[in-house]
Amino acid sequence: MPYDLLIKGALVYPGEEPPRVIDVAIEGDRIAALGPDLGVEAAEVVHADGLMLCPGFIDLHAHSALEPFRDPLLIPKIAQGFTTELINPDGLAPAPVDRARWQARRAYLQPLEGPGPETWPWSSIDEYLQALAATRPATTLVPSVGHGSVREYVMGSEQRAPTAQELEAMRREIRAGFDAGARSLSFGLIYVPGAFADTAELIEVAKEAVRFGAPLAVHVRNESDLVLQAVGEMIEVARRSGAPLHLSHLKVIGHAHLVEPLLELIDRASREIDITFDQYPYGAGSTMLSALLPPWSLAGGPSTTLARLADTATRAQIARDVRRGLPGWENIFAAVGPAAIVISHAAPPRSDVIGKSLAQIAEEREIDPLEAALELLCDTSLDVTMIDHYASEEVVRQIFCHPLHLIGSDGIFGEHPHPRLYGTAARVLGRYALREGLIPVEEAIARLATRAARRLGLTDRGRIETGLRADLVLLDPARFIDTATYEEPRRTPDGVVGVLVAGRAVWRDGAPTGERPGGVWSGW
Ligand SMILES: [Zn+2]
Repeated sequence: MPYDLLIKGALVYPGEEPPRVIDVAIEGDRIAALGPDLGVEAAEVVHADGLMLCPGFIDLHAHSALEPFRDPLLIPKIAQGFTTELINPDGLAPAPVDRARWQARRAYLQPLEGPGPETWPWSSIDEYLQALAATRPATTLVPSVGHGSVREYVMGSEQRAPTAQELEAMRREIRAGFDAGARSLSFGLIYVPGAFADTAELIEVAKEAVRFGAPLAVHVRNESDLVLQAVGEMIEVARRSGAPLHLSHLKVIGHAHLVEPLLELIDRASREIDITFDQYPYGAGSTMLSALLPPWSLAGGPSTTLARLADTATRAQIARDVRRGLPGWENIFAAVGPAAIVISHAAPPRSDVIGKSLAQIAEEREIDPLEAALELLCDTSLDVTMIDHYASEEVVRQIFCHPLHLIGSDGIFGEHPHPRLYGTAARVLGRYALREGLIPVEEAIARLATRAARRLGLTDRGRIETGLRADLVLLDPARFIDTATYEEPRRTPDGVVGVLVAGRAVWRDGAPTGERPGGVWSGW
């Protein structure tokens, strides 16, 4: 019986080990045979001399929860070799959602996740995942349970601790999410209502992740002046609950002197707890512009926030808090300044500000930069996304070189996105490993595939091995590099010859094939 596909003569990186020139035969969705000069028949033969073959890359921080309803091909992801994505990070997810409040959830998530379908037909996580699977995405989407979305579902967007009953209800919803296939529990402690959870609540809900052997995926409470305390809090949560800890997009906003103590803190913790982190390889972040606001002003949901911004006295109080700061609160506006905050998406009628900094917008409108931000939030009903330039390339590389580092693009889809959406995997493997040798090539591949799969307990992928899923990336090592920039962010990387998901080509010769074999992980 001939195989479906034979890839001949590529330099094959199996996962963590050094590469070998071997043939790889594929049958259906699996890797069926491996070896030097296999000498077998196949319906299709790809001659891959001089190319490298890697296991499909895994994006550990993906904002692809609603994008497949618009573009199930997920082009920016497959174009750089991502074949699996962990979705619903930052505690934020489209489900579970109260049927009476789905429009508020949609309005809040829109700057990060897009709107999704016209009406959301789901309430439970299981219903949402079924709707998502029906879009037939090109990559495999692995869900997280979003703690913030569970909290909002159970107790609304209120700034208080849950009652014992509410806490039990939250744990029940989290269990249901894991039963539906989730592979992590995500926290977003700068977003509402996640920001309203105290350490004791986080320890209690983390115990549900322990039952399923799943890691906590955490956007910590403060990535700026108080980053050591914020990461310390999560180490404490991991220690006391027993949950594995995965820190999302490790960084320090401003305060470069805290990077070394931060990495030391993680090293010390790693002797006691199971800890990893991901990073996108850029010195700028991107999130909703409303993340500039103090958490109290976001309580109650988007319409309440807009009412506060419309009220002169309350708006003045918001502005005062941003200018002076609040104890413990991560104040991004103060940490990076208005010249370093660039608008990457703004709903009509303000789409003309895309690509401009808050400082520029303020100058044009002859108002104060903070006032310009508040005005923009009002005019767009909060549907604005920013890119905030917070660190040097040197600091990014310092974090990158740490051995517990894994990769999460944090890519947010849009007309003028952060370049990480298109460039992350190519920057890590093509630029940092292949060109610059910051880490060995097989180490980069282990981080992009093998260790990421292991982190999520995905035993059917992450390596090139007989019997595993044929998620594969064929690259030209001489050409593979990120080309997306802040100015021209929607450029796909050079040098990606082909990408297979479950044995089917999703990307070939610089274009999507239209195949969508990925699906939604449901614990199969
Ligand atoms: Zn985040």
